[in-house]
Amino acid sequence: MKIIFQGYLNKGKKDFNCWFSLQYRCTKQYLRPMKLIDTHCHLYLDEFKQDIGDVIERARKIGVTKFFLPAIDSEVIDDMLALEAAFPAEFFAMMGLHPCSVKENYKDELKIAEDWLGKRKFAAIGEIGLDFYWDKTFVTQQYDAFETQMQWALERSLPIVIHTRNAMQETIEVVKPFAARGLRGIFHCFGGTYENANEIIDMQFLLGIGGVLTYKKSGLQEVLAKIDLEYIVLETDAPYLTPVPYRGKRNESSYLEFVVSKLAEIKNISIGEVAAITTANAEKIFGN
Ligand SMILES: [Zn+2]
Ligand SMILES: [Zn+2]
Repeated sequence: MKIIFQGYLNKGKKDFNCWFSLQYRCTKQYLRPMKLIDTHCHLYLDEFKQDIGDVIERARKIGVTKFFLPAIDSEVIDDMLALEAAFPAEFFAMMGLHPCSVKENYKDELKIAEDWLGKRKFAAIGEIGLDFYWDKTFVTQQYDAFETQMQWALERSLPIVIHTRNAMQETIEVVKPFAARGLRGIFHCFGGTYENANEIIDMQFLLGIGGVLTYKKSGLQEVLAKIDLEYIVLETDAPYLTPVPYRGKRNESSYLEFVVSKLAEIKNISIGEVAAITTANAEKIFGN
């Protein structure tokens, strides 16, 4: 800036236009809206039925250009695919059976998911994994469903999106042999330790980071301070896990701005840099 200005003083008025256009270009670059990807949101759920148009508009305004929709079980598939069909350039559906939906009938549920995978292209297999928080009745079946779906992902060269709760170490152990065979994906809503994070990174998996980052007691801020941004993608898990200052209310994709700001603060870099790096990571894993 100083050099440009001195150049203007030295060379006289005819350079003013050149200087002005440079300034204009710099300003434009500075104001260029950031591009964000919500790698995990359930915007097809009933919580959004009344105002999905406004929800999407608010997200676009802060720069969200893509929304990835994880499946849960056969009950949500129609609504998920309808939302994707309404906005095909922005919404991308996944297919899979959530560990909390693994019950007596899980083989039937897996069959439905597998049939869908044969019918069309999906962005990923997800969300799949282990959840020992709510119920441990079907732990054996959870393992079976998880491993079956990881095998599908390998066979179809798709990434996976992992849900893990109260089962971090168990999840890492069961993913490891699949990662060694080339499976890649995201540990969504990562809430583990620094050691967990490193094990995940060593498997070349990514950490999905959302509203929990803004909860001081989570300890996640201290963990992520030591983790390179190249291993992080952003997510909301909307309508769940709403960031501060809206904690307790319904989450939505526009609240990604609070996650981005917190990461920028922790890393002591600009919001634009956080957006650029995490968006590039998301595009790479989902193959866009
Ligand atoms: Zn989840
Ligand atoms: Zn989810």
